[in-house]
Amino acid sequence: RAKADGRGTYRFFETGMDARAQARRLLEMDLRAALQRDEFQVYYQPIRDVASGRVVAFEALLRWHHPQRGLIAPISFIPLAEETGLIVQLGEFVLRSACTDAATWPDDVDVAVNLSPVQFKSPHLITSVTEALTASGLDARRLELEITESVLLQNGEATLTTLHELRAMGVRISLDDFGTGYSSLSYLRSFPFDKIKIDRSFVSELATREDSMAIIRAVTGLGRSLGIITTAEGVENDVQLELLRREGCTQAQGYLFSKPRPASDVAMMLDRPRLRASA
Ligand code: C2E
Ligand code: MG
Ligand code: MG
Ligand code: MG
Repeated sequence: RAKADGRGTYRFFETGMDARAQARRLLEMDLRAALQRDEFQVYYQPIRDVASGRVVAFEALLRWHHPQRGLIAPISFIPLAEETGLIVQLGEFVLRSACTDAATWPDDVDVAVNLSPVQFKSPHLITSVTEALTASGLDARRLELEITESVLLQNGEATLTTLHELRAMGVRISLDDFGTGYSSLSYLRSFPFDKIKIDRSFVSELATREDSMAIIRAVTGLGRSLGIITTAEGVENDVQLELLRREGCTQAQGYLFSKPRPASDVAMMLDRPRLRASA
């Protein structure tokens, strides 16, 4: 009897695994096909200077137009793309698109691209960045690369070497989702980051939680002392923006200004009717 139960349980578990593994295999096949079929598109979200209100950069955010499932957000496919290594090709697509698009924007508007820890394990990262810059003609100083602490957590030494090499090319490096990982402060000493992006979770509770306010105050102060730009993510209302301004946060990004939108909407988001390519 016990044995039969065990078997039953095992079978049930196995079936569950099968369904999940199958869904995963399906998504993986879809992902590979999607690259071939050009189903990926880079969206852009404006980042504004808090003091002047000027748009200083756009963050490139990947979207997947799935033929059956519609628009898919990165959270639903980036983890699998990382597991399967497809993120390397996807990341190259984002880099190329972002640099090509940014080359048509005004010179004082930068572009920020997210990098996965997996891309740092690939020996081609420097080559990919160089090629994207060369092919587009974009000045390296207009490219920002965003990494999270998890990049430094694994393979720290090799990653630092790569980061220094990128920085020597003129590319700027941002620490993304600041405050959500481990021992954030030691990372600020291990590499001269150009920018700290304060995670959305702190910004969303800015007006309602004293401790979030205190954390924002501490991070913007830290940025000022270290000469590092601070960018607040996920700014959704004027109250948050005003509090950030008061704390001297350098830049803000969020739905208050715009959701991420296709490259064709950049001119509108810049509030400048014509871009250089069409001027
Ligand atoms: P992230 O780099 O921290 O990007 C910011 C995320 O916050 C974006 O989500 C953006 O749409 C969202 N966001 C911005 N403002 C607001 C706001 O006011 N309210 C709310 N609720 N959300 C806001 P998205 O586009 O879904 O991307 C999620 C994450 O996926 C990114 O977080 C990044 O870690 C990753 N990701 C996106 N594109 C790429 C890519 O090309 N390569 C890699 N490796 N990762 C990417
Ligand atoms: Mg980012
Ligand atoms: Mg972020
Ligand atoms: Mg985030």
